[in-house]
Amino acid sequence: MLDKMTILDVEKVVRDFEATTKDAENVQRQTLKLILEENGCAEYLQKLGLNGRTDPESFKACVPVVTHKDLEPYIQRVVDGALPPILTGKPITTISLSSGTTQGKPKFVPFNDELMETTLQIYSTSFAFRNREFPIENGKALQFIYSSKQTKTKGGLFAGTATTNVFRNSQFKNAMKAMQSQICSPDEVIFGPDFHQSLYCHLLCGLIFREEIQLVSSTFAHSIVLAFRTFEQVWEELCADIREGVLSSRVTFPSVRSAMAKLLKPDPELADLLEKKCSGLSNWYGLIPELFPNVKYIYGIMTGSMEPYLKKLRHYAADVPLVTADYGASEGWIGANINPTVPPESATYVVLPNIGYFEFIPLKENVVQDKVNGSSLSVEPEPVGLTEVKIDEEYEVIITSFAGLYRYRLGDVVRVTGFHNSVPKLKFVCRRNLLLTINIDKNTEKDLQLAVEEAAKSIAEQKLEVVDFSSHVDVSTEPGHYVIFWEISGGVSDEVLQECCNCLDRSFVDAGYVSSRKVNTIGPLELRVVRKGTFQKILDHYMGLGAALSQFKTPRCVGPMNSKVLQILCDNVAKNYFSTAF
Ligand code: AMP
Repeated sequence: MLDKMTILDVEKVVRDFEATTKDAENVQRQTLKLILEENGCAEYLQKLGLNGRTDPESFKACVPVVTHKDLEPYIQRVVDGALPPILTGKPITTISLSSGTTQGKPKFVPFNDELMETTLQIYSTSFAFRNREFPIENGKALQFIYSSKQTKTKGGLFAGTATTNVFRNSQFKNAMKAMQSQICSPDEVIFGPDFHQSLYCHLLCGLIFREEIQLVSSTFAHSIVLAFRTFEQVWEELCADIREGVLSSRVTFPSVRSAMAKLLKPDPELADLLEKKCSGLSNWYGLIPELFPNVKYIYGIMTGSMEPYLKKLRHYAADVPLVTADYGASEGWIGANINPTVPPESATYVVLPNIGYFEFIPLKENVVQDKVNGSSLSVEPEPVGLTEVKIDEEYEVIITSFAGLYRYRLGDVVRVTGFHNSVPKLKFVCRRNLLLTINIDKNTEKDLQLAVEEAAKSIAEQKLEVVDFSSHVDVSTEPGHYVIFWEISGGVSDEVLQECCNCLDRSFVDAGYVSSRKVNTIGPLELRVVRKGTFQKILDHYMGLGAALSQFKTPRCVGPMNSKVLQILCDNVAKNYFSTAF
């Protein structure tokens, strides 16, 4: 659709959006019908006995709610190139590597043309609303986007992160042009093999086209902050490159160098101007508008785990508006931000009822009476439909997509804040199972537990044990870092505890954590040893609030929402250690 037009007809996009959201229940029925008609012949659906039925009632009766783990054997067969249609009617040719939602671990999910179509639909929907408030005309975009390596699975499918699959798709560029925000960096930079070199070149491209830049963006806001932090370090080198028209030797890849050589011309005037501007700034406040005088807004996902970056982003942006991007996952898109003037902290996402079939598990505890012994049992409530959710309630999102996921638990918690026509507006709350996250890292309670077990081996040699433990993400310093609280059964030497701390840091093995540690976008892990009895005080605190002892669970991750517990932990720190593992 977008490749056939040069400029997006935003008014038509808005009209279509209004029509589909007014009739959401019906649109959801139709969408489910389309998904099931297209994929009815897939082995997964065949086995469940739908027998060609496509109505929501039969669908819910036959198809179970699943997690990624349940679907893994099917997805693995797709990845391995199995021939008969397994999850979708048409064969899957591309696989996305998700950062992980349910287990907090990277995982494979199918990607197909329909998912690409929905990507373009959601991009154009939010753009149409954004452009009403902040019109962009014939502008260039400084997009800090980076492609991961696209590999081939043993079954011959392409595999990369979902964003890589999108950036590599020929329709993506056309869509950007249609939205009048042509990416200022050449492909060689976006697809460059080294992220540091690409970042440097993105900055350089932005400066070369500084007058034309109307938009600064990235997928997640974290990358924008990282880019301008880097700018603070390398600005003199960037200016020297512009002055001489020669790219710094820090960029070594020939393809990237030759692409950049086409853009770089000696421009001493621009170099002088930039040097003057940079020297004149106080602590880099307002850097973005200073560098890019025609920038209209800054765009990227800014909610959820990205919120901690808003402060720094505002510092660089000064008065330039921050607009959060849409809400989705490798598994599929969910909602668009159609209120771009709302600050990211209060942003909501309006679900598009024709990009997937959506259900929601209410998170309110559902307590029922056990018929046999009369005791109370907590059971998970039944999922409700898109138009059945209630304002102010929290839900876990379930998605049925065009790419072979049926009643799939996304693991995200959202709150309904209102309705746009008949579809809910969702505020992103958190990942349901996620404990520790600063930027692209994701660690669950299980990961924390495994790390603690591993590190505790050193003290076990001295017949000591970790009595209890908890954790905290400290973003009050830059960069943020993990803090692990330990209560130990006896005295341990500093030397051994330092080793425990290093071991903890090394034991978080998810790719996001390890890569962030290596580039220091996450600081050294801190082990804080608390005095004996600290966890008893926490328990006492909960008991004071009316909790039941038999059901008491130590909070394994303590955030700002739990400030009293954090205070108890911090007030009782006896010693602390910072990792020297990286
Ligand atoms: P991934 O698993 O790498 O595909 O990342 C998708 C996850 O990122 C979602 O399940 C959410 O937890 C998070 N996410 C995506 N979009 C947003 C958003 N707009 N606000 C907050 N979190 C988001």
